[in-house]
Amino acid sequence: MYKTLKNTDVKNKRVVLRCDFNVPIKDGIILDDSKIRASLETINYLIENNCKIVILSHFGKVKTQDDKYKNSLVPVYNRLKELLKREIYFSKETRAVNLYMQVETLLPKDVLLLENTRFEDLNGNLESGCDPQLSMYWASLCDVFVMDAFASSHRKHASTYGISKYVPSCIGFLVEKELLALNKFVINAKKPLTVVMGGAKIEDKIKLIENFLEKCDYLLLTGGIANTFLKVLNINIGASLASKNPQILEKVKEILLNYREKIMLPLDVIVANTYDKNYVKYKRLNELDADDIILDCGNKTIEKYKMAIDNSNTVFVNGTMGKYEDQRFSNGTKEFLRVLSESGKIVVVGGGDSVSAVNNFGYTESFTYLSSGGGATLEYLTTSDLPGLSGIDEDDEVEVLDM
Ligand code: ADP
Ligand code: MG
Repeated sequence: MYKTLKNTDVKNKRVVLRCDFNVPIKDGIILDDSKIRASLETINYLIENNCKIVILSHFGKVKTQDDKYKNSLVPVYNRLKELLKREIYFSKETRAVNLYMQVETLLPKDVLLLENTRFEDLNGNLESGCDPQLSMYWASLCDVFVMDAFASSHRKHASTYGISKYVPSCIGFLVEKELLALNKFVINAKKPLTVVMGGAKIEDKIKLIENFLEKCDYLLLTGGIANTFLKVLNINIGASLASKNPQILEKVKEILLNYREKIMLPLDVIVANTYDKNYVKYKRLNELDADDIILDCGNKTIEKYKMAIDNSNTVFVNGTMGKYEDQRFSNGTKEFLRVLSESGKIVVVGGGDSVSAVNNFGYTESFTYLSSGGGATLEYLTTSDLPGLSGIDEDDEVEVLDM
């Protein structure tokens, strides 16, 4: 398995640490700093071990010069400084001779955060394309590379996979914790296992659904994903979001043929409509009109889904019950989270929006595990593989992650 930070000699060494600081920011204000907080354990361990620490992270996408102004890591630098309760340095350069010199003059326990790694994408996609020269340059800044950006571990970028090819490397505490939790609670779940899939786009999740159907006992569907299943079953969903892709529709048909007994679909919904933006109405599924747009599920659905949860030991949730960002359509998600929080079951939530909903509605402490990985969490649960970690050194003595 991957070499862990505890099993790596980092004492007094120069370390490049890859974090995921891709936090939500509006007008320069960080709306949720949990990704920064999640990195503190690893950073403090490196400080305790007298390391010289260079931190890399991407932030948003950088395609134009304008994106550079929008996507600077300066707000993250300021927050990280507060959370670490110490002075740290910031480099506007992601690569330069003077940056190399700056790293050389760091003292033990010094922390230097570099500007957004994706600024390098402006010169020809060097970060996202895993450019070897750039990877080697960043590797040259350290003796050991610590990969702790779990949410970026499904992609091979220069600052993740690239560096790990050129220097000794290990995973940080966050990546270790995520892998342990997903292995223990989801991949080797205590059965019966209920999987809840909601959210908007079925295209992104169809493989995960297929993968889960083989091992779960119940699959509860909501949101845009449920709509596509209802459409294939010839139930009128009005003007709701659903896939039009023939391959997806064919796949859904096949899934329904093979696994109908495990799959639960909504009974009632909250709809908007296409011509009146103030229209919000509760409807049973057989009452929909052509202009109705399903944006949340109703209480009868939640009551039905509660039965599956009561019969389970483990529940994995990905995707929200409805358009939770809009107060008028957030009740299904809130109500479902309340039911889950009172269930006493092992509950794991994965996915960017799903975890945001948990935090926004006050359930941060209510569940067994909240995975911070977004797309990486889903990729790991679908394929049991994270390409961004494939260059990390192996450690045959550690079996704990193989559970
Ligand atoms: P995660 O980020 O946790 O993987 P998703 O992105 O798949 O979750 O799902 C959350 C998104 O799905 C939210 O933006 C929400 O507004 C949207 N959504 C949920 N239900 C519906 C629906 N019925 N129609 C359209 N969008 C929906
Ligand atoms: Mg999302």
